[in-house]
Amino acid sequence: MKAIQVKKTGGTEALELVDIPVPQPKPNEAVVKVAVSGVNFIDVYHREGRYPVALPFVIGQEGAGVVSAVGAEVKSIKAGDRVAWTSIMGSYAEYIAVPADRLVKVPQAVSEREAAAVMLQGITAHYLTNTTFPLKRGDTALVQAAAGGAGLLLVQMAHTIGARVIGTVSTEEKAKLAREAGADEIILYTQADFENETKRLTNGKGVDVVYDSVGKTTFEKGLNVLRPRGMMVLFGGSSGAVSPFDPITLTQKGSLFLTRPSLAHYIATRDELDARSSAVFEMIAAKRLKLRIEHIYPLPDAQQAHRDLEGRKTTGKLLLIP
Ligand code: NDP
Repeated sequence: MKAIQVKKTGGTEALELVDIPVPQPKPNEAVVKVAVSGVNFIDVYHREGRYPVALPFVIGQEGAGVVSAVGAEVKSIKAGDRVAWTSIMGSYAEYIAVPADRLVKVPQAVSEREAAAVMLQGITAHYLTNTTFPLKRGDTALVQAAAGGAGLLLVQMAHTIGARVIGTVSTEEKAKLAREAGADEIILYTQADFENETKRLTNGKGVDVVYDSVGKTTFEKGLNVLRPRGMMVLFGGSSGAVSPFDPITLTQKGSLFLTRPSLAHYIATRDELDARSSAVFEMIAAKRLKLRIEHIYPLPDAQQAHRDLEGRKTTGKLLLIP
């Protein structure tokens, strides 16, 4: 089968199209014929070696497809079922072996492309808005990179809950998309100081929560726009990692809360994986969550997909078709 493998970590050239054997299921696994793989920033971190993985490895964390074979112990799914997964390495490939208890069935009303587009970023938006900082009607949230893959979904979910959403983006085109997703206010953080703007928009009161996937360039100022006892949810670092800092800073800036959540810890149990994926699929089926699939690349163009994602050119979701 064709797959994108990393033999040596590095730039986009580290993504190599290879021909390798189709995986065979272990007793607790299912093998899925991949219809669509999702591209995510975490793939860049794996490719670069920032998040170390034993070499060589087939890259990719997310996808959807049809079960082609199951191991002897698998009872929950069968060949022919439409399924999706996240946080399983090896998704940029024609086939993948996945522990059966990490697969979710894709309902009729949701296409494989839609499922692959939300398993990582959609479930992330769900746990961030419902569990990490459970937003309520009337709360104010600052969403950094509001037109990004996770950003556009986060804005929609926060808006649906009834929160006031202030979003940051780098361009007018991205501003339009974030507004369409439900952002009440947009700050072009490449042109204006988002700290001053957020304070102005909240009459100096500050926001209840900052959802920050940008990290290095936004974290510190993000702390300055929180109300006393507000929460900084630092969930990514598309601009780079945040420098180490002294926890007393949280006291000085208003007894703030800081968390650095990871999807894995919010879908660790079968119940949580089921509840979150069903909730997101239901939003799609009910047309309460609009997906922006920005670009669909053939699998051999994985390098281009990474260049586009890292180059800050993209909005919404990038998919690969094996
Ligand atoms: P995005 O689609 O959001 O792409 C990154 C965006 O970040 C860009 O489009 C850009 O938006 C903004 N950005 C700001 N500065 C830079 C920079 N220097 N270089 C590149 N981009 C920059 O990606 P994802 O939604 O896939 O992921 C965003 C982050 O969230 C990643 O760090 C990812 O690992 C993390 N994440 C974490 C999860 C978790 O559970 N903790 C789950 C999902 C994602 P603009 O041009 O508007 O500034």
